[in-house]
Amino acid sequence: MNNSFRLAVIRGIPVEIHFSWLLIFFLFSLTLAQGYFPTVAANQTSTVYWTAGVITTLVLFASVLLHEFGHSLVAIREGIPIRKITLFIFGGVAQMEAEPTNPVTELKVTAAGPLTSLMIALIFGTAYYLALAPGLIISESIFFVARLNLIMAVFNLIPAFPLDGGRIFRSIVWLFGKNMLKATRIAVGLGTVLSFLAMGLGFVMIFVQGDLWGLWLIFLGWMINQAGQSSYSQLVFKETFSGMKVEELMSTNLATVSPDDTLEELAECFLHYKYGAFPVVYGSTTHGLVSLQNMKQAPREKWPETRVSRVLTPLKEVLVLKPGSDAAEVMMKMAAQNAGRALVMQNGELVGLLSRTDMMRFMQMHMVLREE
Ligand SMILES: [Zn+2]
Repeated sequence: MNNSFRLAVIRGIPVEIHFSWLLIFFLFSLTLAQGYFPTVAANQTSTVYWTAGVITTLVLFASVLLHEFGHSLVAIREGIPIRKITLFIFGGVAQMEAEPTNPVTELKVTAAGPLTSLMIALIFGTAYYLALAPGLIISESIFFVARLNLIMAVFNLIPAFPLDGGRIFRSIVWLFGKNMLKATRIAVGLGTVLSFLAMGLGFVMIFVQGDLWGLWLIFLGWMINQAGQSSYSQLVFKETFSGMKVEELMSTNLATVSPDDTLEELAECFLHYKYGAFPVVYGSTTHGLVSLQNMKQAPREKWPETRVSRVLTPLKEVLVLKPGSDAAEVMMKMAAQNAGRALVMQNGELVGLLSRTDMMRFMQMHMVLREE
């Protein structure tokens, strides 16, 4: 997440706020000041309502932060450093430097978040019932914070991976089955079923009951679905390529073309080798990469006189890797940049080519062989 700014560093953990959160801050304050407080605590000035709205939203913000600190402090105690905490539209994320390596650690780290929210709900709820009279704006604000923390705890406990509940479910399956990947697959499976149920329910609400709140359910279901799939495939990448270097996966018997070749000659190469792209090399200098896509820049009748140098993707625009780079990281980088292939270079010299197709093929092979 890049669109965020740093708020503070608390106990060594940077806390960042995503810009989408500012929108939620405003919407919450508005709803509280204009909708909620005037109905539960009458006859106040709009300054009072707005002050109460903003303060209550700030306390809610602190609750979300405490929830994430609940996860973070337990993680740190278990030896997993926290990179940062980001607050965004739906709450927060504490980014761990590594995934827990055993189910008990994951269970402790995950449970700490919802437990923190439950504790806050309990403390504020007790304060409301024991000490404060209803109808006062301050008591209603405290009641609201208690209720939202309860909702936050319950919502996070829904067993849809990667929500906290889904992680707790995974750690239990992992504990009994002793296989993290399999446990993740089961947890993501359950999360997918729940996300479709949420979306289905959303559609029923909209089209049968005419209730537009169904849109939120559809959106939420879709988000959980996407997040589950992507955390599963990231895990598969990591498992498959863990400990592997780029040099173990790259192709080294390279067919290269010269920048002075014509596109007519290049077309011959494509037909002969059936590769999707060629590194463009002259002497010991690598000029870039030329793919079938690049050929389309020149019309067919110009191919006999157009040189490769006119259409190639220059080296500075190509993803360049080192042979010793970590394969799992590279795979994520290629997926993020939507790069189909990368050149592998050492000391300015071309040593290999790594394509996403090669890596996917390796991954399929790996999965089949593992299951056998
Ligand atoms: Zn959590």
